[in-house]
Amino acid sequence: MWRDRSPIGPRLASASAWPVDSERPIWRRPTTLDEAIAARVELGDAALVVAGGTWVTLLIQQGLARPAVILSLDRIPGFDGIAVSPEGELSLGALCRLTDVARNPAIRADWSALADVYGIVANERIRNQGTVGGNVCEADYASDPPAALLALDARALVRGPSGERAIPMRDFFRGHYETAIAPDELLTAIVVPPMSIGARAHYLKFTARSSEDRPCAGIFAVVEPAAEDRVLKRVRIAIGAVSATPILFEAVNIELNDGRLADLAGEGATSIDPIADLRGSAAYRRALVRALVPRAIRAALADGAA
Ligand SMILES: Cc1cc2nc3c(=O)[nH]c(=O)nc-3n(C[C@H](O)[C@H](O)[C@H](O)COP(=O)(O)OP(=O)(O)OC[C@H]3O[C@@H](n4cnc5c(N)ncnc54)[C@H](O)[C@@H]3O)c2cc1C
Repeated sequence: MWRDRSPIGPRLASASAWPVDSERPIWRRPTTLDEAIAARVELGDAALVVAGGTWVTLLIQQGLARPAVILSLDRIPGFDGIAVSPEGELSLGALCRLTDVARNPAIRADWSALADVYGIVANERIRNQGTVGGNVCEADYASDPPAALLALDARALVRGPSGERAIPMRDFFRGHYETAIAPDELLTAIVVPPMSIGARAHYLKFTARSSEDRPCAGIFAVVEPAAEDRVLKRVRIAIGAVSATPILFEAVNIELNDGRLADLAGEGATSIDPIADLRGSAAYRRALVRALVPRAIRAALADGAA
C-alpha cells in the first residue's frame, strides 16, 4: 500500500515494477532538512531521494530502480528560493524549479546566459517540475546546466550529519550518474559567484534529433575582453554532453581572429574523450566541438553582458 499521498504516487502505482502491493515502496516525506538527513543516515541506499520526480519516475517505471523507501523532499520548506547575497553571489535552492531560474529577473539581468540554459532544458513540462538539485544530482552526461555551472565556477552546498560542506562544480561530477555527494548527504543549494567585470557568456546547445531533446553537445563560453582591441584576456569554456562529465578548459591572452579561435577549438576537441550514443558518434562530437567553440565565443562577445 502507498503509505502517503504524493504527486507522483498515481503514476508509480501504475508501474509494472511492483506487481504486488506489499513490494511497493514506502513513502517518507520529512518536513525538515534535519529529518531528511536522519532518514538518509538511517536508510542509506534503501531510500531513493525524490525532488521533482521527473527522472526518478522514469527509473522506477522502467524497472531500473526498486527502492524500498522513497524519500520525498517536497514538504521541506525553504529550499526553493533564489537569492543574491550582498557579495553578489547567486544562490539557487536545490528545490527551485528549472523554470524559476529561467524566468527570474535578477538572473536574467546579471547571469542571462545561465537563465537561457535553464530555459532550454527539455520542454516546459519538465522545466516546471524538475528541480535545480535533481538536474545536477542525476548527473546524466546529456544535460545542459552542468556545463554552465562548471564554466561559471559554481559550487554545490551539501548537508549531512556532520554539517555543511561546499563542493566546487569541477569536483562534483564523478562519472556517469555519479556525484561527490555522500549517501548520507543532500544537496541544499548551488552558489554561483558574480561574473567578473566586463565578462560575457553564452551557451550553445546542439540537439541531433528534436529541439526538445537532451544535448548531443553543449558549449558554455565565458569571455573577458582585454583593454586592447581584438584580444581576449581570458576564455573559459565548458564542454557538456560529450563525455561522462563536463570538461573545462581555459586560455589567456587570446587574439580574436579565426585562426586562433580554430586552434583553441582544436585544443578543446583533442582534450575530450567523446562518447558515442544515439545522438552522435565520437567523431561527430569531436567535429561539433571544433565547430561550436568559436561560435560560442563570438556569440558571447555579441551578446553583451553575461
Ligand atoms: C523527457 C526528458 C527530457 C529531458 N531533457 C533534458 C535536457 O534537454 N537537458 C537537461 O539538462 N536535462 C534534461 N532532462 C533531465 C531533467 O532536467 C531532469 O530530469 C530534472 O531536472 C531532474 O529534476 P527532478 O527534481 O525531477 O529530479 P528527481 O527525478 O526527483 O531526482 C533526480 C536524481 O537526483 C537525486 N536528487 C534530487 N534532489 C536531490 C537533492 N536535493 N539531494 C540529493 N539528491 C537529490 C535523486 O535521488 C535522483 O537520483 C530531461 C528529462 C526528461 C524526463
